[in-house]
Amino acid sequence: MASDSPSPPPEKLSKKSAGQTPMLQQYGEIKAQYPDAFLFYRMGDFYEMFFEDAVAAAPLLEVQLTSRDKNAADPIPMCGVPYHSAQTYIQKLLAHGKKVAICEQMEEPSQAKGLVRRAVTRVLTPALVGDPDLVSEETQNFLACAYARGEKLELCLLDLFSGEVRIGLCENLRAVQDLFLQLTPKELLVSSQIEETPWFAELKKLVPHAAITFRDLYFKKDGKSNTRSAVMAYLTETQKLERVAYLRAPVSLFESKTMKLDHTSVSTLEIVRTVKGDVDGPTLFNTLNFTSTPMGRRLLKEWLLHPLIEKKAIEERLDAVDNLLVDLPLQEKIRGHLAQMRDLERLNTKTALGLAMPRDLVAIRGVLQKIPLLKKDLQKAKSSRLREVKKSLNDLSALTQILEDALEDSPSATLRDGGIFRSTYTDEIATLRSLAHDGKSTIASMEQRERTRTRIPTLKIKYSRVFGYTIEITRSHLDKVPPDYTRKQTIANGERFVTAELKDFEQKVLSAEGKLRSLEEKLFLKLRNQTAGYATELAENARLIAELDGLLSFALAAHHNGYHRPRIKSGWDLKIEDGRHPVVESLLPKGDFVPNSIHFSKDSCRTLIITGPNMAGKSTIMRQVALITLMAHAGCYVPATSADIPLVDAIYTRIGSSDDLAAGRSTFMVEMTEVARILREASHRSLIVIDEIGRGTSTYDGLSLAWALIEYLHAEVRAKTLFATHFHEITSLEDTHPGIRNANVLVEHWEDTILFLHRLSPGVCSKSYGIEVAGLAELPGDVLSRAKEILGKLEGQSLKNSRSRSHALAGRTNQMTFF
Ligand code: ATP
Repeated sequence: MASDSPSPPPEKLSKKSAGQTPMLQQYGEIKAQYPDAFLFYRMGDFYEMFFEDAVAAAPLLEVQLTSRDKNAADPIPMCGVPYHSAQTYIQKLLAHGKKVAICEQMEEPSQAKGLVRRAVTRVLTPALVGDPDLVSEETQNFLACAYARGEKLELCLLDLFSGEVRIGLCENLRAVQDLFLQLTPKELLVSSQIEETPWFAELKKLVPHAAITFRDLYFKKDGKSNTRSAVMAYLTETQKLERVAYLRAPVSLFESKTMKLDHTSVSTLEIVRTVKGDVDGPTLFNTLNFTSTPMGRRLLKEWLLHPLIEKKAIEERLDAVDNLLVDLPLQEKIRGHLAQMRDLERLNTKTALGLAMPRDLVAIRGVLQKIPLLKKDLQKAKSSRLREVKKSLNDLSALTQILEDALEDSPSATLRDGGIFRSTYTDEIATLRSLAHDGKSTIASMEQRERTRTRIPTLKIKYSRVFGYTIEITRSHLDKVPPDYTRKQTIANGERFVTAELKDFEQKVLSAEGKLRSLEEKLFLKLRNQTAGYATELAENARLIAELDGLLSFALAAHHNGYHRPRIKSGWDLKIEDGRHPVVESLLPKGDFVPNSIHFSKDSCRTLIITGPNMAGKSTIMRQVALITLMAHAGCYVPATSADIPLVDAIYTRIGSSDDLAAGRSTFMVEMTEVARILREASHRSLIVIDEIGRGTSTYDGLSLAWALIEYLHAEVRAKTLFATHFHEITSLEDTHPGIRNANVLVEHWEDTILFLHRLSPGVCSKSYGIEVAGLAELPGDVLSRAKEILGKLEGQSLKNSRSRSHALAGRTNQMTFF
């Protein structure tokens, strides 16, 4: 949704505010600078919105729309949200693709001479949410900045929380589609230049829910990395940052050092979410995830979505996993340290964005304190990667010391409540704190003394923000109140009084408390800035800790799930002995999964056609080959007794049926588009998994397409191809094409039903058993027996010719190939 200005243009507002109170004039001036954001205007304990902002926001926030100056002829619409629960409301607006400009009071109202000074301290947008705590630790929130360069599109993607910046020139729409479907940017930053190109409509189609922000000024006309400069300018504008030190060095959008997994493969292989989109469901990530830290979890996902394709890098990871797997004490120690570490990556971002609170810095300190211990334990590590992690981890002992000296063990959550610094940090803190603290004990003894003097056992000295310290006397004792008590307030069951002594004392304590609070606040901001100065080193540490966590997770997964180290081969052949599907296996009782072996060989088996009844396990076998290959490339051990895995540049899948009605494509069209893409992009180094093709059209159309497709893949693409089908005619290709092999998943027919053996065996399956499987699904008996009757007739009539038809087709093909 385009985040068109939710408010009137500045002129209109300023006209309206002419002749208004100074406050509304101030509001109008600030609002004019943020026309495309809701202005949250701080007034005491509330953020207020006025005029069109209020009218538009009230229904979205489900708050009451009221009006200021109700009796005026033209009352001003207004709504507000409490300061302390503002986050929830802000999130609602961001979820609607809106922006929020936070306008704070820049001075204490009590100290302001006239109108309180106000300024916008931060603008929150759907992609630049500001506070990492506002989004799940699992998600990335991408801002995508796009600039059309003719047929191509320059893109810069930024994830504010990880500081990840990716830049690249997309050659065509398909490249953009893959990126956007995988990363789903929450906001597009563009200039009006793009509106005149076809790109604009395409982008809006790809991410229909993303907010669109126009900032012509930030784009240079012919700059090289135009989008990057625009992103930086927008970041500065919204986050009011002086520096963006924690951002990582930009990387290419098209990382050539990783395996290509397009959106379809990521989705159908259920790597990080199930096909239905469930992230908590049975996915590869959830099966392998034994991480202890949020940054480790995020990196593990990245590893699975972008497996390596360089032998050396893969071996390094496997060596590290091996090291952790065999060295149990090392494994235990590292795990112990990681378990106590908080999300350093996001804590660092919070600090760099000026959002960290006292407990966040304490959490950073906690991580830093573990680093020397980690380094010491890693001393014994043998693998080169673990040693590298040890070497690169930055002790940051100076910062650790500063934080240790400064911060209390459990400081308060906010700046307002004080209690942040140790009394030993500065003399001034010690003095003020003892004054404030002594105050409390003085109150206790004063209360005791007054009880004795007045003989009122229920007398209490209480504190309230509005009335300060008062002596509370219940109604039944009011007759005993001494004359030096001055009545201050009546309450439900009595009265409150003050004395000169109490007033005098209150002044002393409150001023000490107030001074302490503002001193602590001032010191904290300084400390936070100081910590932000280490943003680069902290980010690097977070990355290394994540890596350690990811490697350990692989080791633990290997241990718990019984995986073995794959051998990474430089040739073409792939051999998996007794492989298992990591996710399906984890859902079955231990030992129930039936392992299967697969052997691809350049000379004798490049294409494997798998037949078998419904439910036999064809999809499972094909996916398990893809997943084992992927896991090996990610540097993970695999569910197989032995696996020789060659380097694979991409995994392509065409599995299941889905339509894309929004994009105007039927199920059959989606299927054909995916196939077309595979034929266009796959190389002989790719792995292709095709589970059924040509089923959404007439039998002969479908069969012909499937047939032609296998021939083409086998002869032209020459990739490792797994092809499951119910078109049994196709299996005759084995007779005419060397390198095409048939396999089938065995079942046993027993009485009136079938037993699934889930075992792959060479050769062709005799029949599909569709009606028997439908019986297992409890289709009514009448339907089943009628279906059997029809099948009998059909088989009698035409299927007796199927083999000869197949041979006829195969013969024709050979002739064509020959010519
Ligand atoms: P269809 O032709 O209907 O798509 P299919 O042959 O592709 O069926 P799968 O979806 O792979 O069958 O498997 C069906 C179910 O059988 C799986 O959900 C799983 O529970 C079980 N299964 C498959 N393979 C195995 C195996 N090797 N060991 C144990 N159970 C298995």
